[in-house]
Amino acid sequence: MILKKLAIASDNQPILIQGAMDMETNVLINALKSPKEVTIGSWTFWEGTIDNYPIVISRTEIGLANAAASTTLGIEKYEPRAIINQGTSGGHDPELYRGDIVIGATSLNMGAYKVQYSEKGQGIHPQNWDNFNVVMRLRKNGELVDHSHFAADPELLAHAMEYADDYQHGKVVKGVIGSADEWNREVDRINWFHNTFGTSVEEMETSSAALVAQAYEVPFIGIRILSNTDQHKQDFDPVTAKHSQEFVLDVVKGLIEKSS
Ligand code: SAH
Repeated sequence: MILKKLAIASDNQPILIQGAMDMETNVLINALKSPKEVTIGSWTFWEGTIDNYPIVISRTEIGLANAAASTTLGIEKYEPRAIINQGTSGGHDPELYRGDIVIGATSLNMGAYKVQYSEKGQGIHPQNWDNFNVVMRLRKNGELVDHSHFAADPELLAHAMEYADDYQHGKVVKGVIGSADEWNREVDRINWFHNTFGTSVEEMETSSAALVAQAYEVPFIGIRILSNTDQHKQDFDPVTAKHSQEFVLDVVKGLIEKSS
């Protein structure tokens, strides 16, 4: 579907590629031919082309609210054919190391909690908290539907996985991206997330961008590199932000090539 849609050159619908911070967007912006910068509110977009195909790079800023706002603006302004949210993340899966890449088969808001009542003096027990599903109103009939997670577009997922073997800085796996306005470093808590929700990594934007993309029915995928993982005492390394963008550029160029 998406490749067919991508091949329709009669209009100007771009692929929208998102990153939260300058270090997560600079390589992508540099890859654009004749970039034009547009700022709406706090959120900046760079319009240009790669291999003659319209591309918009979006700096979402950090966190769930920023990701939702910038994704909404990006969709309303550009009507993108597809959205790729990419950048850094912290490892949850002990099998993964800094530099590895997780292609998000699903993402979820892992910071939304529903807590059972307990008396004063009974303490705080995060391990007993339940996850809150996101309730979304469907466009076609106004029905309210619970979402425990958001799935990647299957064609984007399959396409991105084709680049796994070419990646030089680690391994590339399918996985679950957990988003929250949190930076967790307690390894017991990280393991709790991994065991309870199956999270491969945590970060602060993907599921929020995925929610908005789903609302507008725009094909979406999240691609996250491990920039740090307390499972292996590996601290944040900014070079991973560059490697994420380089990987995504290969994925996007391949997408453009297949569609032409
Ligand atoms: N390292 C930067 C700050 C990053 S803030 C600094 O010190 O200046 C968090 C951003 O990094 C978010 O956009 C989030 O998506 C990403 N991120 C990377 N690793 C993370 C982790 N372990 N937990 C949460 N967010 C993480």
